[in-house]
Formats: sequence, C-alpha cells, structure tokens
Amino acid sequence: MSGLDADSIRAEVRDWLAENWSPDLTVREWWRRLADSGWGYPTWPEEWFGKGFTSEQAAAVRIEMTEAGAVAPPHGIGQTMGAPIILEYGTEDQKQRFIRPIATGEEAWCQFFSEPDAGSDLASLKTRAVRDGEEWIVNGQKVWNSGTLTSDRAVLPLRTNADVPKHKGLSFFIIDVDQPGIEIRPIKQLNGDAEFNETFFTDARVRDADLIGELNNGWGVTLETLANERAAYAAGVDYGGGIPPGEQSGMLDLTCAEAIAEMRTSTHHQAAFPLGSGAALIELAREHACDTDPVIRQRIMQLHSMSETALWTAMRAKAAADQGKAPGPESSLGHIAGVNIARATRDLGLSILGAGGMLMGEDAPRKGDVAMMALSSLVHGIQGGTEQIQRNIVGERVLGLPKEPQVDRDVPFKDVLTSRRS
Ligand SMILES: Cc1cc2nc3c(=O)[nH]c(=O)nc-3n(C[C@H](O)[C@H](O)[C@H](O)COP(=O)(O)OP(=O)(O)OC[C@H]3O[C@@H](n4cnc5c(N)ncnc54)[C@H](O)[C@@H]3O)c2cc1C
Repeated sequence: MSGLDADSIRAEVRDWLAENWSPDLTVREWWRRLADSGWGYPTWPEEWFGKGFTSEQAAAVRIEMTEAGAVAPPHGIGQTMGAPIILEYGTEDQKQRFIRPIATGEEAWCQFFSEPDAGSDLASLKTRAVRDGEEWIVNGQKVWNSGTLTSDRAVLPLRTNADVPKHKGLSFFIIDVDQPGIEIRPIKQLNGDAEFNETFFTDARVRDADLIGELNNGWGVTLETLANERAAYAAGVDYGGGIPPGEQSGMLDLTCAEAIAEMRTSTHHQAAFPLGSGAALIELAREHACDTDPVIRQRIMQLHSMSETALWTAMRAKAAADQGKAPGPESSLGHIAGVNIARATRDLGLSILGAGGMLMGEDAPRKGDVAMMALSSLVHGIQGGTEQIQRNIVGERVLGLPKEPQVDRDVPFKDVLTSRRS
C-alpha cells in the first residue's frame, strides 16, 4: 500500500468515499468509519488506524476528501500532540487505551504546559508530582490551557525531581482532566471568548501507568511534543476550523450536515474569515468596491506570495519528516511566517473595511467576522512559543549565533528556587 502514487491513492479514496461518506451520518459514525479504514490519519502506522503513508501521500487523501466535501477527521491536541508522542514513546498498553478514542474523536485532549513562571522558559515549571504507590500526587498551577473545560485528558510535564538541574527532573504524563483535584477557571480574552483557562492542581492524581517515556526524562518528550505542535502550525493547521472532538463538544450525535451548519453560526467567527487567503480578501475587496485600488491589489498579491512561500516551507518540513529527519528550522520559520501572515491579513482586512472593521454583531459587515479575526490574530505571536523565541531558535540553530547565557542550566532546581526567593 505504501508505494502507491497520488493518482492511485485518490482513486482508492474516491471509491471508498462513494461507499462510505454521507452528510446524513452522525459525526460519531463518520469518524469511526474514518478511523477504522485508516483514511483519517494515513501517516499513522497501519496497525494503529493509519496506512503508513508519507505526508505527500496523505496530502492526496486530504485533497480527495476536501473535493468530496467530506467532514475532516477529528483534530486537536490529542491528534497533533497526544497520539504522535504515544505512538513513539508509549507502551503497548498505553497505545491500546488511548489511540482509538483519539482517532474516533470520542475523546478531546488538551495540554497543561505553561505556568505563571514558566512559559518561554518551560523547563522552569514547578508543578510537582510525588509518588504514592501506583499513582503520583500532583500539586501546582498551569495557565493558558486551551479547551480544558471540554477535555477528557491532558498531556503534561511535571517536576518529579528538584535535586537535579531543571531539564533533568521532569517527567511526561497523561492525566484525566475530570477529577476532584483539578479546578479549571476560564480566562476572558480580548475577543470576548474564554477559550483558555488557568488550572489548579490540589492533590490531583495521575497513574504511574500513564507516564510517557522514562521517569525524569520528560524534557526530551516535551520538546518533541512542542515540535509537533509547531509543525502543525507551520502546516497551516487552524485548531478552530474543524468540528471539535469529544463527548462534551455536543457534536458527536449531530449529523455531519447539522454539525457543518452549526460550525458556520456566529459563535464560531474565528473560523469564518481565513488567515492568509488571497481569494477571501479579493472577495472582501469586491464587496467593498476597492478591488481596483492599486495599493489594495498590491497588498493582496504580497499576502498571497507570503502564503505560497509558507506552504513551500511546510512542504519542506514534511519532506524532511518523511526522510526520518527530526523537525528542523522549517517549523520555526513556518511559525514566524504564520505570525506575519496573520498580521498582514488583519491589517489588510481592516484597511478594506475601514471604520466598519470596528463593528461586531448582526449589523456589522459580515457580522463582524473581520473584526473578530483581527482581535484574534494576536494569538499567533504567542501560542506554541512566542515569535521572539522562534527567532532565537533560528538565530542560534540556523544562523549559528552564540547561544543565550543560561545561568541556571547546571544548578539543582531546588537551589534555583531558593535563590529566586532570597
Ligand atoms: C491562544 C493561546 C493558546 C494557548 N494555549 C496553551 C495551552 O493549551 N496550553 C499551555 O500550556 N499553554 C498555552 N498557551 C501559552 C503559551 O504557550 C505561552 O503564552 C507562551 O509560551 C509564552 O509564555 P508566557 O505567556 O509565559 O510569556 P513569557 O515567557 O513570560 O514571555 C513574555 C515576553 O518575553 C519574551 N521573551 C521571553 N523569553 C525570551 C527570550 N529568552 N528571548 C527573547 N524574548 C523573550 C517573549 O517573547 C514575550 O514577548 C497559549 C497561549 C495562547 C496565546
């Protein structure tokens, strides 16, 4: 199967869709069919709901699905961060328990990484886990955790040893979100949504069987998870765009047609105006009679060029991954390109709308989609690692500039904490 060319793959997908896809299926039925057939995640191994395809082969599958108007497979932290890391580091038991509900979208996952004192410098995280028989007891606080209120499980690095330098005392776990020791408080954002939360752990429990990789070796797993996240952003993945997975999303028992209609309603503005789409901006410019304005035309062309070159960077990243190479500078470059594209779309959209770009609600141009996109665009320089951190990575790893001084690198973490307090 894995030697198939794009045309043969598209023909197979077309035949399979003719037999299996219908907008009248419930989302749950459709996602189960996708998972069991391997067409949902074709780059995953054949024995784990995939087909062992390269990214290029998987692109052929995606094109055929999109052309058929079929609902995309479930998409979120479970699919981009959880499953890849479990497939790589997980035990057989972990794969058996976690991969299928991720593939069928019956579970939603989130990530508990950032803390009030550990965002860019994530290795300084303080939330600690202390062993208690077959379990670990977790205490501390995480912050900016997206989608936590509707998530079933989370991936999280925890401090399991403070006697060694900060990178060496972390372990990577999967935790059940719905438990008495976890309190979630929503944070209201600039755009009016409360997409992310702060999360408090008070004697929360995590099973030792849910440790991913080796004890105190969690930094490597964390870095790889973050690289997978960056690669997803670099590939132009928009977490808001698809039907959200998980029982608590309330979408699984709607028909696919109903779910698509639901996603188009005004509560999902963010998905409505796409970032980096020359075609969407041309349509907007036509609606507002400025498609003949030479400056607007030039800026749309500039944005289109940025999007196309970002796409090529993403393809380079995928090609490297297909050759078994670790995620390289392409993911950081792609991330920075994504930030620039988001800002350019925001500025251009607001220039086209003029004063109308300040309005939201039913009477506003496009019910405020452009204003919502503009307010939401700021996240792109922060989420998944800030723009400045990505530029540091490019400076040090691509351009060979001297590394930033790291005074606490070889100091036991408990001593770093003591010196911060004194
Ligand atoms: C929409 C959104 C969703 C998110 N979702 C999640 C989530 O689901 N789970 C989760 O755990 N986290 C999430 N985050 C948090 C995100 O990962 C952090 O905000 C990010 O890593 C930055 O950390 P910080 O906010 O602590 O900023 P800080 O690290 O405190 O940085 C503050 C400023 O200093 C700059 N800076 C810091 N260090 C350096 C340096 N060495 N060199 C140059 N400049 C530097 C930064 O670029 C930034 O401008 C989300 C954030 C956003 C915006």
